Amino acid sequence: MIEAELLERAAVISGKKVPTDKWIDVIDPSNALPFARVARCGADQIAEAVEAARQAYETIWRFTNAADRSRVCRRIAEGLRAERSELAHLETLDTGKPISQSLVDIDVAARYFEFYGSAVEGLSGDAILPERDLLAFTLREPYGVCGHIIPWNYPLQVAARTVAPALATGNCCVLKPAEDAPMTSLRLAGIAIEAGLPAGVLNVVPGYGEEAGAALTAHPGVDRLAFTGSREIGEVVMTAAARNIVPVTLELGGKSPHIVLPDFDAERAVPLIVESITEHAGQNCSAGSRLLVHRSVHSELLSALTEAFRSLHIGPGATDPDMGPLISAKQRDRVLGYLAEGRRDCVVSVGGGVPRGAEYADGFYVEPTILDQVTPAHTVFNEEIFGPVLCVSVFDSIEEGVELAEQTTYGLAAGVWTSDVTTAHWLAQRLRAGQIFVNNYSAAGGVELPFGGYKRSGIGIEKGLEALREYTRCKTVAMHTRAHA
Ligand code: ADP
Ligand code: MG
Repeated sequence: MIEAELLERAAVISGKKVPTDKWIDVIDPSNALPFARVARCGADQIAEAVEAARQAYETIWRFTNAADRSRVCRRIAEGLRAERSELAHLETLDTGKPISQSLVDIDVAARYFEFYGSAVEGLSGDAILPERDLLAFTLREPYGVCGHIIPWNYPLQVAARTVAPALATGNCCVLKPAEDAPMTSLRLAGIAIEAGLPAGVLNVVPGYGEEAGAALTAHPGVDRLAFTGSREIGEVVMTAAARNIVPVTLELGGKSPHIVLPDFDAERAVPLIVESITEHAGQNCSAGSRLLVHRSVHSELLSALTEAFRSLHIGPGATDPDMGPLISAKQRDRVLGYLAEGRRDCVVSVGGGVPRGAEYADGFYVEPTILDQVTPAHTVFNEEIFGPVLCVSVFDSIEEGVELAEQTTYGLAAGVWTSDVTTAHWLAQRLRAGQIFVNNYSAAGGVELPFGGYKRSGIGIEKGLEALREYTRCKTVAMHTRAHA
């Protein structure tokens, strides 16, 4: 590919394309070739973006009625839908994921703007009457300038998930997309402006984490931070937030279990368990990456899953296979490192390496893999692999199953598979995870469903009405009255 054919995308600050003299190549994971380059923003552009957001907040957005903010958000949703196919194409080029999964991502992103745009109209404070001559009420105010740092796995979905409730509630945003997949976030900035969002309310500044990301988290003009990404960087972001005493939402990793009891419905469970760990090649913080199965149904379920994994079609995202490549050579090598440990310590039921064939030689492909006889002593039981690797462990009693489930430091999601409603309720209450799925998994994206990790999976809530409140702060006004003379 020659240079002239590359897409080129500048940062969007205050509604304008801001040139930088440094660029980052954007790679197509299916062939390792660059297809675009984006601005490599540094501390200067971050400062400019924070200033633009502050300006827009103080002059326009904080004084814009909820009804008008709502209308703009819903118009952004329409704008996303109008470009559904182009955006999905771009997302697939950027992330490698199958085109049908990208199409779902665009639909879900549109839903976030629609949902928060609508919900914000019903947001209000409370009236409190603590004593005779005192009337108090609460106001839900925006924070001001919010900094959002997002990962590369579900770029447009996560951008919308974090930015939509912030914008709807009257905040102005600086969004730092991941260096590995920045394209649709930049297009979102354009769509927002075309939908009537005033300049400076949403600024998008691509760049490297340790440059642009670190500058954003350190900037004293940022009033609130939201980060989705790895646990390691979550710690770094929270430390930076602590220095400026700003609240931070962290959506980090997971090692989410499926707990399968003897009375499970195999016909329903098998395809959903497969999907939960192979969607976007397992690069999903909520991936169902551990299968904890009752000994009496272990071999039946394992052979059904093995067969299902074997029949998965792998290929470039644009051809809409079941599974595309991983995002980068670095991620592929990380996953292959875990697979080497898995091959040594556990039993490989299917997969275990790189798919054979010339068509897979250039892209970052890994086989969908099942590791059996995994125990808490193994690294692959505990650590988030972020690839299409299902780790299988058996239990004999339900208490033992819960104990296995609880044994990692993560607590993002859990799947429960049983026909007994009492058991399902018991497990749902007992498990320490932010989302429990009974006889389903991931609830079709779940825009309306609050989502937030227990334990080291994170802090704070995104999605659902809960997130709308998270982007506002509560002010109390107490007034002396003479209502009772
Ligand atoms: P991965 O290693 O899979 O890329 P990260 O957690 O490193 O996951 O990346 C998630 C997001 O965090 C990306 O947008 C990345 O640029 C950003 N990031 C990485 N390092 C830092 C940092 N030191 N400060 C702020 N943001 C960072
Ligand atoms: Mg990183």
